[in-house]
Amino acid sequence: MTIFEKIIAGEIPSYKVYEDDEFIAFLDIQPKNTGHTLVVPKKVKTNVLEEDQATVAKLFTLCQELSNKLMKGLDAQGIKWQSNINEVAGQEVFHTHIHLIPYYGRDVEVTVGEEIIKKLG
Ligand code: AMP
Repeated sequence: MTIFEKIIAGEIPSYKVYEDDEFIAFLDIQPKNTGHTLVVPKKVKTNVLEEDQATVAKLFTLCQELSNKLMKGLDAQGIKWQSNINEVAGQEVFHTHIHLIPYYGRDVEVTVGEEIIKKLG
């Protein structure tokens, strides 16, 4: 069982940005920047290359929606999408996920916590 399955099952806590029947998004515990979010399909596949096209379409649509929410809510100036596929590319959790990493263009303390979720409304 991956750590993300435990988060989906509610067995370990997370700062939830979004959830529906098929997807969950939560703050990365070791954020590159404040608001660093992981977008995860609930059905387990190893990485995005293993997903069917319908899931990829929904996943990327959700990444778009959540990126807009993060940019507005946190007043970010840019955002980076990243998916590490296989260990050689830096993948550590073998359950599909897309990193959404906001960029601010100004000094912003890197934090993770409920205060960020509140700003997203
Ligand atoms: P990757 O290298 O793409 O597989 O990245 C996995 C990410 O999952 C890393 O950025 C970790 O900080 C993050 N991560 C690991 N455990 C947790 C957790 N319990 N809650 C939130 N994020 C986590």
